[in-house]
Amino acid sequence: MSMFEDIPVDVGIIYEGERIRWPDAYVELGGPRVEHKFELVKVRRPEEIEDGKTIIIGPDIKDLEKKSYPFGIYVEIAGRELEEELEGVIERRIHEYCNYIEGMMHLNQRYDIWIRISKRSVEKGLDSFIYIGKVLQRLFKSELPIIEKIQITFITDPEKVKEKFEEAMRTYEERDARARGLRDEEVDVFYGCTLCQSFAPTHVCVITPQRYSNCGAISWFDGRAAARVDPKGPIFMIEKGKCVDPLKGEFLGVNESVKSKSGGEITKVWLYTAFGYPHTSCGCFEAVAFYIPEVDGIGIVHRGFQGTAPNGLSFSTLADSTAGGRQVDGFHGISIEYMRSPKFLQSDGGWNRIVWLPESLKERVKGFVPDDLLDKIPTDKQVTTIEELKAFLEEKGHPVVKRWEAMIEEKVEEKAEEREAVRPLGVPLEAMISPEGLRLAPGGFRIILKNVKIHAKKLRIKKVEK
Ligand code: SF4
Repeated sequence: MSMFEDIPVDVGIIYEGERIRWPDAYVELGGPRVEHKFELVKVRRPEEIEDGKTIIIGPDIKDLEKKSYPFGIYVEIAGRELEEELEGVIERRIHEYCNYIEGMMHLNQRYDIWIRISKRSVEKGLDSFIYIGKVLQRLFKSELPIIEKIQITFITDPEKVKEKFEEAMRTYEERDARARGLRDEEVDVFYGCTLCQSFAPTHVCVITPQRYSNCGAISWFDGRAAARVDPKGPIFMIEKGKCVDPLKGEFLGVNESVKSKSGGEITKVWLYTAFGYPHTSCGCFEAVAFYIPEVDGIGIVHRGFQGTAPNGLSFSTLADSTAGGRQVDGFHGISIEYMRSPKFLQSDGGWNRIVWLPESLKERVKGFVPDDLLDKIPTDKQVTTIEELKAFLEEKGHPVVKRWEAMIEEKVEEKAEEREAVRPLGVPLEAMISPEGLRLAPGGFRIILKNVKIHAKKLRIKKVEK
């Protein structure tokens, strides 16, 4: 008898990656239209919970209408070998297991979950959280036997979601703060995660003490705990190997591991930059760092931001250009915790290169922005176009302005080099430039070009024989 015989819809890995579009949805839980949503795992003492119990606070699925609801999934577990350190990685499995359920789509993590249940599955009988609770409980206990007892609460009552949301946010911050302080140089191993390969087949997260996972849900400590209790699971140890570039963050062991886990697609990774060979981006990243060529700086936009960046693009458009397990030069999926790291885009200039971010995001990370830069980085409330951005950066003396000066000098040099290239050997430059124009050849003729356009299919340069 199948483990899910009493569940009205199919359950299996084949449903991972299933997308439910709004017209096909029965209901949306969490998502960008509601402020309060979360999923949280807590380790409890065995006597504090009842194994196999599902609690529903607020209306059940069958009583919901087609709209977006505040939503919380609160999972309490107990077991002799369970430690608080494992809460984060066990919590991340909620995403995977919910997606095994036919007609249930789960995106993102922590305070940002976005769930849809399809009309078809509700018609088939998936009309209560009791079924979802049963599936999660059985999957958790069969895949992670260290969980001996599990109790799950689903919350749709907006007031209760809000109350538990505050607790969840405090817990996330405590977990992240625990992982701060350790440096990448102080460890011999990093951890990798391939949990998102069902959506982005070539994506491999490399989790270091100073580069949190893209989803922001798994720290180096979480990775270590996960690899220890579930060595065959999606989180694994990576021997760092020789560091060939400490600024960009290139390690031979990381290259090797990513190559093997990405099926040979990704052969080189630079951990601390958005350019060249940046870390791959799946689709769960909390934010996107994107290059703004007009100011030679980097903007950052996070998932919850509803507006557009100064280049006129929204988070979802920028995310589309970034996601899919690719390495896209200048488009980089990151976690918000990584923005608090001293290694944050260090090869690109770190915070000195950040030229724009939404105000709500700035508020969350402002304690980690160098003091002298805080007022020099504008937000969506201060600039909305590239022209305004340029003017703001110039007025405040943002460090990228110095790069513009260097770029102008480079261009002048390039121009000079181009002129050198057309100058016949041995002829001094001054001899070729007159107040009227550029003399193309020395000797008996002088050609002055004024107000002309030249279209040439071919340019042949022949050496003149003496
Ligand atoms: S974003 Fe990375 S760490 Fe997070 S679940 Fe996906 S692969 Fe794992």
